[in-house]
Amino acid sequence: MKPAAFQYRAPATLQEALSVLEANADSAKLLAGGQSLVPVLNFRLATPALLVDLNRIDSLAGIREEADGSLVIGAMTRHRAVEKSELVRRANPLLHAAMPHIAHAQIRNRGTIGGSLSHADPAAELPAVCLACDASLTIASRGGERSVSAAEFFQGFFTTALKPNEILVSIRFPAWPPGRRFAFLEFSRRHGDFALVGVALTVDGEDTRVTVFGAEDVPKRVAVNRKNIADVAARITPRADHHASAEYRKELVEVLTRRALEKALT
Ligand SMILES: Cc1cc2nc3c(=O)[nH]c(=O)nc-3n(C[C@H](O)[C@H](O)[C@H](O)COP(=O)(O)OP(=O)(O)OC[C@H]3O[C@@H](n4cnc5c(N)ncnc54)[C@H](O)[C@@H]3O)c2cc1C
Repeated sequence: MKPAAFQYRAPATLQEALSVLEANADSAKLLAGGQSLVPVLNFRLATPALLVDLNRIDSLAGIREEADGSLVIGAMTRHRAVEKSELVRRANPLLHAAMPHIAHAQIRNRGTIGGSLSHADPAAELPAVCLACDASLTIASRGGERSVSAAEFFQGFFTTALKPNEILVSIRFPAWPPGRRFAFLEFSRRHGDFALVGVALTVDGEDTRVTVFGAEDVPKRVAVNRKNIADVAARITPRADHHASAEYRKELVEVLTRRALEKALT
């Protein structure tokens, strides 16, 4: 199928984009890499009257480290740029480890970190990494900016805290805690597919936590009792769909958590 007809605007500045969005909040959709939105349009699951293309707004892309060691990534930064960044590799090795699991190289060339987080697929890697790292998201509207923690941002199945007149501007990852160990694992049917279940595990001294994604409607972060890994699975209530049953996903949660812990500690 082809998308329903729509108007198209490609503003050159964030302020211009916010003005266009404010005036058309009920009928507009933002276009980032288009890797999720275009299929949605083609299937006519969404029929926006206006597409506001963010690709000309250079200020929305880029990766920088701040004086306090936090890593700030612009929403329009392509997955591939994050994957290949030496700064990301050094400043947030968990994010670096997760990137190759996102789709295929061709999709990572176009898809953006902001698009992925705004889309909020329950099986996407980046929402889980943001939650695992206590990231915060900067959101702009004509009225100004606000900052939302990852825990508040992901509200439900493909649902975020974004309002129709808002644009996700950047993501801030706090400085990587000294001595932190980690592992990122997922299980999918084929390389490049969305995960049936994935885990992002962090170990800070005795404090071990795992963020599980692909199981519930939003990623979930839980404390890990290293002597009772089954307890993690007991606290997850997985979905069932045509890809996997709830019982299978629960089993994956336990197996992946166990393997992630072994990997993080060796
Ligand atoms: C075959 C295939 C396999 C894939 N596999 C994976 C996978 O394994 N893991 C994974 O995580 N993803 C996967 N993806 C999705 C891919 O990562 C997309 O890049 C991502 O989900 C959306 O990013 P995008 O930049 O393309 O956003 P778009 O498709 O342009 O937009 C997605 C949504 O976010 C909104 N949006 C975009 N940017 C902003 C912003 N700055 N502020 C507010 N709203 C915004 C749009 O309006 C739209 O609703 C796959 C895609 C394909 C086609």
